[in-house]
Amino acid sequence: MSLAHGRPYLAIPGPSVVPDAVLRAMHRASPNIYEGELIEMTAGIIPDLRRVARTAHHVAIYMGNGHAAWEAALSNVIAPDDLVLVPSTGRFCVGWGEMATGLGAQVELMDFGMKTPMDADAIEKRLRADTEHKIKAVLAVHVDTSTSIKNNIADVRAALDATGHPALLMADCIASLGCDRFEMDAWGVDIMVTASQKGLMVTPGLALVFFNDRAAGVRTKMTRVSRYWDWQPRAHPEHFFEYFGGTAPTHLLYGLRAALDIIHNEGMEGVWSRHASLASAVWTACEAWGQGGPLTLNVADRAHRSCAVTALRLGAPHGTDLRRWTEHQAGLTLGIGLGMSEPEDPKGDGFIRIGHMGHVNTHMVLGGLATIQSGFDALELPYGACALDAAAKALSEK
Ligand SMILES: *Cc1c(COP(=O)(O)O)cnc(C)c1O
Repeated sequence: MSLAHGRPYLAIPGPSVVPDAVLRAMHRASPNIYEGELIEMTAGIIPDLRRVARTAHHVAIYMGNGHAAWEAALSNVIAPDDLVLVPSTGRFCVGWGEMATGLGAQVELMDFGMKTPMDADAIEKRLRADTEHKIKAVLAVHVDTSTSIKNNIADVRAALDATGHPALLMADCIASLGCDRFEMDAWGVDIMVTASQKGLMVTPGLALVFFNDRAAGVRTKMTRVSRYWDWQPRAHPEHFFEYFGGTAPTHLLYGLRAALDIIHNEGMEGVWSRHASLASAVWTACEAWGQGGPLTLNVADRAHRSCAVTALRLGAPHGTDLRRWTEHQAGLTLGIGLGMSEPEDPKGDGFIRIGHMGHVNTHMVLGGLATIQSGFDALELPYGACALDAAAKALSEK
C-alpha cells in the first residue's frame, strides 16, 4: 500500500513548488507579442525584479536555465585567455568555472572544501599577489546548492576593496535569491545571475543577469560579444523583441508577474525571515535526529548554512532508500546528494538534500519533517528523540 496519493510535495532545491497563482497566470492562450498587454507587463516586471535583487541597475532576461545565466554573464565581460578566480565550496562553484573554461578563459580554482565557506582572507591574499591585475573577475557562488554552504559575498567585496583590485565581483544567486538575504548594491556586487525556478517560484526557463555600470563599462571594451548573449540590447531595448533577442518567453513572463506580486506583497524582509524561521526548524529537527542516529548536517555552523536548502548525510544506502520511501510511500520528494560522495559511497547514495525554498510554509515544512521521521522508522534507521517536538516549537512564535 502507498499513502502517496494526494497533493505531492517537491522538496528538492529547484525546481521549487510553483504557487497556484503562478500556474493560473500561465494557463492562457498565447498573447500578441507585438503590442498590447504583454509589452506593458514586461516594462513593469523590470523594476520589480530590481527590487528583489536590491539593485538600482540593469537586468537582462534570457530564455534559459541557470547554466544559461552563467554563460550569458561571462560572455559579456570575459574574453578568451582572461583569468578568472573561482573560490569553490561545492559542485556549482566548480560548474561556473567549467563554463568559463568552455569560453576559453583561464580558470584558477581556490578550493575551500565542501563543509565550510570561502575564506575572504585567503582570497584577499591571492588578489594582493596579483600585482599585474591579471584576474578579471571573481566568480562567487552565494549559496552552493550541492553543499548548502552560504558564502559571505560582502566579505569578497571587502577583499577586493582592501587590495584595490579592479576585478569584477560576479555572484551566483540562483539558489539564494528570494530565500537568503542578498543586497546587490549594498554588497558591491557588479554582476549577479539567477534563474526563475528556485526562490522566484516560476517554472524553469528564465535566466536573469543583473549588472551595474562598472560591468557595463567592461562590456563596452570587449572586442566581441556573441549577439545572443549580449546584454546591452536586452537591458536597453529600442524595440520589444530586443528584450529577449527574439520571441518573448510569453507564459513565463505571466508566471513571473504573478510570482513578483506574491514576493512584494510579503515584502523582501518578510520573505527572508520566513525562510530563516523555516530553515531553523529543519536544522533543529536534523540536529536532534543526529543525537541518536547516523544523520549529520553537512555544514556545522548555523551561520554558514543556507536558508534555502539543507544538505545531509545518512550513510549509504540510506539516503537513496529514504528518498524512495518518502516519494513512493508518502508523496514527498527529497533532493539527491548532488556532487557528494565518499570512498565507500562513490555514487552518493548516503546523501540527501531538503529544499525549503520559495513557496513553503510551516505546515509544509513540519509535514515534510514528520514524513522523514516516518521514513526512518520504515527503514529501521535510528534517530534522536523529540526532533519533531523541537521543530514544532521553533515555529510556534506568535
Ligand atoms: C540550480 C543552480 C544552478 C544551475 O541552474 P540550472 O537551472 O540547473 O542550470 C547553478 N548554480 C546554483 C547555485 C544553483 O542552485
